[in-house]
Amino acid sequence: MTDSLATLGVRAGIARSPFNEHSEALYLTSSFVFEDAAAAAAGFAGTGDGYVYSRYTNPTVAMFQARLAALEGADACVATASGMAAILATAMVTLRAGDHVVCSNAVFGATAQLFGGLLARFGVETTFVPPTKLEAWSAALRPNTRLLFLETPSNPLGEVADIAALAALAKRHGALLAVDNCLCTPALQRPLALGADLVVHSATKHLDGQGRVLGGAVLGARGEVMDALVGFLRTAGPALSPFNAWVILKGLETLELRMLAQSERALALAQWLETHPKVRRVFYPWLASHPQHALARRQQRAGGAVVSFEVEGGREAAWRVIDATRLISITGNLGDVKTTITHPATTTHGRLAPEARAAAGITEGLLRVAVGLEAVEDLRADLARGLDAL
Ligand SMILES: *Cc1c(COP(=O)(O)O)cnc(C)c1O
Repeated sequence: MTDSLATLGVRAGIARSPFNEHSEALYLTSSFVFEDAAAAAAGFAGTGDGYVYSRYTNPTVAMFQARLAALEGADACVATASGMAAILATAMVTLRAGDHVVCSNAVFGATAQLFGGLLARFGVETTFVPPTKLEAWSAALRPNTRLLFLETPSNPLGEVADIAALAALAKRHGALLAVDNCLCTPALQRPLALGADLVVHSATKHLDGQGRVLGGAVLGARGEVMDALVGFLRTAGPALSPFNAWVILKGLETLELRMLAQSERALALAQWLETHPKVRRVFYPWLASHPQHALARRQQRAGGAVVSFEVEGGREAAWRVIDATRLISITGNLGDVKTTITHPATTTHGRLAPEARAAAGITEGLLRVAVGLEAVEDLRADLARGLDAL
């Protein structure tokens, strides 16, 4: 149709019913009826062309899948009930007992638990490596390594991994590279174009963008893995509900605008924080002080919405900044148009052992702000109240 994300976000994937509704229809139905017994048999055998049951897929879910596929430049997309369901599904179809995974050590907490804990019980071993150290990825590879998994930029420290280099490494080794594109979304970064084999999403975050529903997706080239994902959903059941698909589908219409506007506000806030005397360090890929700044500029279209910073005075000072806010929401979620603030050491990373937390760079003075769409002056004033009082 077009290469424009603006147009694809609004138009891609629409399948109108015979009623010719203008806005995408929400199909709240668990099953579909057949013309006759033979059509039912064909539906169940997978040789028919209609819908069968919403665990397999549903017209609203299919519209969401088609639109997200267009945005990511993928030719196949499988929607899932949540981001974690997308990552589990990816692992279930690419790995078997005896296989090995190399995973970034700066992934979402539940992702680390999934690979390091749950999958270990089923005979899949995972080595965790620093996402920015190409040599560490390379050294961790084993003959049975099947999957490389990462998030970039990472949360909360915004570490940027080199997708193209890691894709080349995976390819040479005959392994797959899966990228969790949650923080950038296709509006800012398209991992498949950089050589990744699979993209996973927590649609709960920016794709919905307004903190309403859970959802997820896996995207890639049509073929064995994507077919296996369809089969996995049908058999194991972590399907996206049509209602959630509809909400997220409508969220995609404003994705590009939101991501650019939120990135712009995040950059302004990061620049201001860098000048504040009570702030020791700011972590944001679009700042020249960021260690992977050049790579981020090459790989991404903007810095994204997450800004982290370390204040002088450890936990007590960090909590005082949080408690002085009146506008920003105190919540661990991100990817919302409402700005949120959290203290990673005692929330998102609270379950880690203190040594592991320190090794991951999650200090007691660290704060994470997931910037939304409020006026940047208001966000600055909200943070300044606590910072100026330190
Ligand atoms: C939230 C999140 C997930 C998990 O998604 P859910 O929809 O909550 O299951 C996975 N990866 C990243 C980067 C996330 O932020």
